[in-house]
Amino acid sequence: VDPQIQALLDLYADATKLYHHFLVNTAVGEQALDYLHERGLDDGTIDAYSLGFAPTGDVLLKYFEEKKIDYQLLRASELFVTWSDGTLHDRFNDRVLFTIRNAKGQPIAYSGRKLTSGDDEPKYINSPESPLFEKSRELFNLDMAKNAIRKSKQVILFEGFMDVIAAFQAGINNGVASMGTSLTPEQVHILNRMAESISVTYDADSAGQAATKRALDLIAMNSQLKAQVVHIPDNQDPDEFLRSHDSTAFTNVFVHNTEDPVAFNIRYLQTDRNMNNQAEVFAYIADVLPVIASVDEPLIRETYLAQLSDAYHISLAGLQQQIQPLLLAKI
Ligand code: ATP
Ligand code: MN
Ligand code: MN
Ligand code: MN
Repeated sequence: VDPQIQALLDLYADATKLYHHFLVNTAVGEQALDYLHERGLDDGTIDAYSLGFAPTGDVLLKYFEEKKIDYQLLRASELFVTWSDGTLHDRFNDRVLFTIRNAKGQPIAYSGRKLTSGDDEPKYINSPESPLFEKSRELFNLDMAKNAIRKSKQVILFEGFMDVIAAFQAGINNGVASMGTSLTPEQVHILNRMAESISVTYDADSAGQAATKRALDLIAMNSQLKAQVVHIPDNQDPDEFLRSHDSTAFTNVFVHNTEDPVAFNIRYLQTDRNMNNQAEVFAYIADVLPVIASVDEPLIRETYLAQLSDAYHISLAGLQQQIQPLLLAKI
């Protein structure tokens, strides 16, 4: 390993221990620890995920200065921000820290969540890219989930850190999350090498559904993974659902509350469209026909076309004619 990379890995390992220590052993971390307990996390989970707390007061900088760590290295780590006067300061202040680890389990970045809602600071602040952290290539929890994913050939894709962690605590250990940013082709390639199927389990809100649409398209373009969409009931995110239900109820959702990508698209593409308006129906048809054309089985395609014809009182023969060029383009 490149000596600078090794030095950075050592630095993150040290920082993670310090932040975890603040969370579990100190008075300044007490409120953060209470917060995590209130969110249903037990001490075993808090340890397994090396969760931490970053207090205010440049504690990390002081710690590394005492250890006489080279300033060049501190700058390269992105654990600090540089003020206009040139001085370094801790990037994370008064936040609970989710430690982001690479596939080998080495800490390479953090996401810091504020404890209170209301002020105008962002809920999460993520580490920027660094020599250790190439965002588009990392998946949260891949280190802990990789064996279960390889064994079951199935992966669950969640939106947030808390969703992955709550699932893990409930015994569902093949979950990962892309890092706040939307899913990337590189992340899909990684999962494609490990699994055969992927359950996209994003939030039920409109942001989550839009992200689901993007994820499905990306998965289809970049992998052979068989995708399904999982709908968590009652507009909850997986973490909220798991706090009010047991893991059996959660597992049942994965069996009974799913949709294949074609069905998802046929429904989702209607979002924000007035289907009483003829022009909007035609615009919808133009969007949805490529989705139906992507289905390989002629009988299933015909069934979808017949459903469209019924639902919007349009000619089945017309639909069949309009889908023809798309089918020819497939060959
Ligand atoms: P929580 O349960 O802690 O409120 P969440 O995971 O439900 O958080 P969402 O708002 O659903 O949060 O966002 C999903 C994910 O998107 C988060 O886990 C985080 O990775 C990312 N995210 C959310 N807000 C931000 C932000 N302001 N900046 C960067 N990433 C964010
Ligand atoms: Mn969300
Ligand atoms: Mn959420
Ligand atoms: Mn949540």
